[in-house]
Amino acid sequence: MSHEKLQVQTTCPYCGVGCGVDISGSQEAIAPVAGMKSHPANFGRLCVKGSALHDTLSHTDRLLHPTMNGQATDWDTALNLVADKIRQVISTHGPEAVAFYGSGQLLTEDYYVANKLMKGFIGSANMDTNSRLCMASAVASYKRSIGSDTVPGCYEDLEQADLLVITGSNAAWAHPILFQRMAAAKKARPDMKVVVIDPRKTATCDIADLHLAIKPGSDTSLFNALLTYLHQQNALDKDFIEQCSENIDAALEAASTAAEDFSQLADITDVEQQDLETFFAWFRDTPKTVTFYSQGVNQSVDGTDKANSIINLHLATGRIGKPGACPFSITGQPNAMGGREVGGLANQLAAHMDFSPADRDRVRRFWQSPRIAEKPGLKAVDLFNEVKSGKIKFLWVMSTNPLVSMPDADDVKEAMKHCELVVVSDCMANTDTTAAAHVLLPAASWGEKNGTVTNSERRISRQRGFLPPPGEARPDWWIITQIARRLGFEKEFPYEHPADIFDEHARLSMFENKGTRDFDLSGLTNLSREQYDALAPIQWPVNDNYPSGRARFYDDGRFYTESGKAKFIPVDARPPVTSETGLTMNTGRVRDHWHTMTRTAKAPVLARHIAEPYADFHPEDAMRLGIRDNKLVRLWSNLGEIIVRAHVRSDMAQRKGEVFVPMHWTSRYASKARMGALINKDHDPISGQPALKITAVEATIF
Ligand code: SF4
Repeated sequence: MSHEKLQVQTTCPYCGVGCGVDISGSQEAIAPVAGMKSHPANFGRLCVKGSALHDTLSHTDRLLHPTMNGQATDWDTALNLVADKIRQVISTHGPEAVAFYGSGQLLTEDYYVANKLMKGFIGSANMDTNSRLCMASAVASYKRSIGSDTVPGCYEDLEQADLLVITGSNAAWAHPILFQRMAAAKKARPDMKVVVIDPRKTATCDIADLHLAIKPGSDTSLFNALLTYLHQQNALDKDFIEQCSENIDAALEAASTAAEDFSQLADITDVEQQDLETFFAWFRDTPKTVTFYSQGVNQSVDGTDKANSIINLHLATGRIGKPGACPFSITGQPNAMGGREVGGLANQLAAHMDFSPADRDRVRRFWQSPRIAEKPGLKAVDLFNEVKSGKIKFLWVMSTNPLVSMPDADDVKEAMKHCELVVVSDCMANTDTTAAAHVLLPAASWGEKNGTVTNSERRISRQRGFLPPPGEARPDWWIITQIARRLGFEKEFPYEHPADIFDEHARLSMFENKGTRDFDLSGLTNLSREQYDALAPIQWPVNDNYPSGRARFYDDGRFYTESGKAKFIPVDARPPVTSETGLTMNTGRVRDHWHTMTRTAKAPVLARHIAEPYADFHPEDAMRLGIRDNKLVRLWSNLGEIIVRAHVRSDMAQRKGEVFVPMHWTSRYASKARMGALINKDHDPISGQPALKITAVEATIF
């Protein structure tokens, strides 16, 4: 460790806001971190998680050496064993018996190499990622309607909107700096209206003019009814619809069945008729509208349809690609977007290409790939099902903890036992998932590795290392490259530095397509290492037309569908969810923790807000079930049980018949708090995204 003064700019590793962070002090003593004033995501702000990053850098509980069956070993032995096993499984069972499961915590360069190895050289597309749990429905809905997985707007739109509709998102806790920006805009312009649509009354409602506490699952009915209302009120943008879109009639017809009138919609959504009328009138009268949505929309059996019902509204009113007007999906993780760009999802290839014959051939020729995957691979739920069935013999989990986060987490734990070799590369030694691995490979962590991430507004930022990795930890891209070389692909995986990988990634984005694609990084090719290291935050595309990046797409009315027009998607509203038990469980984040707490649990300041797992109850449910405030409660489903602290919400933040349980706590911190063990595997049939927000449960005092 050096005493030399540090001055490094990097990016926060937590949420999809992607805030810039200033690092100072020395390697021996990192100073409290500060928000990077010049970063366009946060302009110097940091939330409490970001502000505590310097407290999370200790080496406590780090994985420091490769291990095999619990015994420390050297890198060569571990890498040779992993490569030999992959080779043997491919030759005995074929490439489909190999699977990778990645993470939105991986940097773009790590993700690129993993995806290339699996899909281009192992020859299977069985690489999926925990981003499947985060935003797969948003991706599927964009592709269905606007032809490309391209977020239309930018963060400034949130400040420029006159009406901000926040739906399925507790932004105040999950995306705090964006919430601060929205709150500041509202304060500066009190006429700006904010509508929060969420079954729970969350901290985000602090800035709401109107909160619609809808019945879970009634979202599509609400948005379809709004589309019908706008049509009846002659409030559609006829010019935009005629010139830039297709299929409006089918969408209107499907929407018209949602509700006959406000009174029926009030019954369906369980929202006061007057509040619905107010919301609809505001939407009708406010051209500058942004709909901001996140996991409450995506994590559903019909998440793709829900997202399309939102996009339909924006297309019908021409509110897309304009300042202060767009549908805006927000990613949960720091690099879920980077993963989308390199094809980290099993149904993608790379550089926003998929498995069409033309895309497949283009990627194959660019990679000089000997056996590129022929078809999309298994999405997360199906992937772990096939691990359990024995079809997948080799599994490599990278930087994620599926034994906590996947639905039916106990089944995933059981599945691991059916695999011939489970490899986990992680920076932490003791997680639920590392406990299930045969081989552990120590990965470098935030602050130790170099690369790029892309935030929710398509902005690429550098993560820069400022500390040496401890023990024998190595960057993920290095580990994957070593395996690729041992499989005989030295020439195709020549990388010595993340800049080499970024350059290849950027060149693939323009290969035989320069200037014609949404995802185009042609302006970022051939960077020297110094230029790569100095890369300032920039929104893609970066090309001859947009050398400084592009804030908004579709301002020209051109979309990435075959016809060049946006497509309305007819969406049928499902009936709201009912539970035979009379109680459904919702899940989400708390303000000061991140994922399964491997990093945030290290900062004592972050435990002060909420120190233990809990369940929020409506007072009438608590009374009915004999549950008392602050006492332990047992919650169970047909799959498993948890024991957590009961909070009886006298402030009525919780709807009757619903209970909220945070997602973070693992068996490491509380013996029975893995809420993933209760959730069944229901998922959206289009996106494959699990329905993590609604689970029928029962509860009793413990
Ligand atoms: Fe980090 Fe997100 Fe907080 Fe920004 S808002 S500091 S990216 S956790």
